[in-house]
Amino acid sequence: MSGEERTPMTIRCVWPVDCRNSCGSPAHYGHTCGRHLERVRSMVGTLACAWPGCTWRAWDRRGLCDFHRRVAYRLIEPRS
Ligand SMILES: [Zn+2]
Ligand SMILES: [Zn+2]
Repeated sequence: MSGEERTPMTIRCVWPVDCRNSCGSPAHYGHTCGRHLERVRSMVGTLACAWPGCTWRAWDRRGLCDFHRRVAYRLIEPRS
């Protein structure tokens, strides 16, 4: 029920749901929607990357490998 407010730029979740489509839900954090954020959270503490089909290691154990963390979170704007 949050995120109803319209921001100038609606960012869509970039997670792939199948080979051709990405999730497309409004992003919660970076480029990831709340549902997929949950998936990442469920992998925190393991060496596995939560991204579908990814076999890279998440060396910092935060749920995503280095590459997909950048894709999914897209470093929030540095301005505060
Ligand atoms: Zn999503
Ligand atoms: Zn990955």
